[in-house]
Amino acid sequence: MDRCSFCGREKRDTNLLIAGISGHICDNCIEQAYDIVQEELKKKGDFDVNSLKLIKPAEIKKFLDLYVIGQDEAKKYLSVAVYNHYKRLMHHSKKDEEVEIDKSNIILVGETGTGKTLLARTIAKLLHVPFTIVDATVLTEAGYVGEDIESILTRLLQVADYNVEAAEKGIVFIDEIDKIARKSDNPSITRDVSGEGVQQGLLKLLEGSVVNVPPQGGRKHPDQKMIPVDTRNILFVCGGAFDGIEKKIGQRLNTQVVGYKAVRGIETIDRYNLLQYIAPQDLKAYGLIPEIIGRLPVLTYLNPLDKKALRQILTEPRNSIIKQYVKLFEMDDIQLVFKNDVLDYIVEKAIEFKLGARGLRSICEAIMMDAMYDLPSTETKEITITKKYATEKIDKQDIKRLKVA
Ligand code: ADP
Repeated sequence: MDRCSFCGREKRDTNLLIAGISGHICDNCIEQAYDIVQEELKKKGDFDVNSLKLIKPAEIKKFLDLYVIGQDEAKKYLSVAVYNHYKRLMHHSKKDEEVEIDKSNIILVGETGTGKTLLARTIAKLLHVPFTIVDATVLTEAGYVGEDIESILTRLLQVADYNVEAAEKGIVFIDEIDKIARKSDNPSITRDVSGEGVQQGLLKLLEGSVVNVPPQGGRKHPDQKMIPVDTRNILFVCGGAFDGIEKKIGQRLNTQVVGYKAVRGIETIDRYNLLQYIAPQDLKAYGLIPEIIGRLPVLTYLNPLDKKALRQILTEPRNSIIKQYVKLFEMDDIQLVFKNDVLDYIVEKAIEFKLGARGLRSICEAIMMDAMYDLPSTETKEITITKKYATEKIDKQDIKRLKVA
């Protein structure tokens, strides 16, 4: 009687029994073995520091260029930071402790919709360490409604499949960091539970310490088992719009103009893009505590998107909005063409409605909705979007609806 050499089941108790040279294996054992192999490969392959391939900063930037328009300065800083992060990880894994390389957490400052999250998401595609994006607005000081600061690390653990060792080498993007700025300069009588308190909590993570993380996130409660995570090697990238910070930069530049010129060697200050002059003291004036600023030593900015950049965003990135529509129609065997003046029109509308890059999609949706609804049920094999067609569709729309999108 043939049996599975692994579980001992007889042939009649299996769906399939495969014969080898000197034994048999049943379908059940094959499936289990397959799961084990997948699990092990995932643990090893995804986040194995020893198998990390160093990608040079210039290559990282080149990859970012495929998806993100402009923002060269931020791309450069980010590429170097990620490169150094990898080097640190390799250095540490060799246990060569002679020179400790400090980590360089980053802070990206730029108006909303200029590509901060996009940069973070794009870089994540390239990485082989756990990566997560969290929103600082939901965080509050322990004991108040909201999420504990440690829940940031819960997300990282989840991405790493609760492989603590891998999570401890990950990268966290904290979005909207400006929302935890101190609400006023005056240490006030009412407690600032979502501002300075959170910053103090965050400091612990940024500095590098062992933090007890609730495995399911949210609020900690007494009988929950905590997972200790060491944040020493976790790279933090923070992003924020810092609405109104230009005023603080302007004030600083006005009072220091003489010294400033001497340092930077610039003749005139570009008043339309003051963010490029951002310095740590502006973040302090905005309400970040000095300890936090000290822990975010790499400070860089994103440019506001002008007409030319918006136009490029529509068509150039590898998965640009226009390419996506063409692909969607292609799936129905319909050839979709946009006239050049339509693209200019979409950009003009995005600027007119003050929607920035985020608005490009909602405007395109408004233009394309009827075609996407009607054409698949017709025999049409070709459609050209002209400016006249686009204008008709947009004029029909309630502008308020576009703005909310
Ligand atoms: P934020 O700076 O607020 O994080 P996002 O990165 O979320 O902005 O940008 C919103 C959307 O706008 C992106 O998903 C992308 O489609 C588009 N976008 C913004 N900036 C750029 C850019 N520099 N290059 C290409 N697309 C961009």
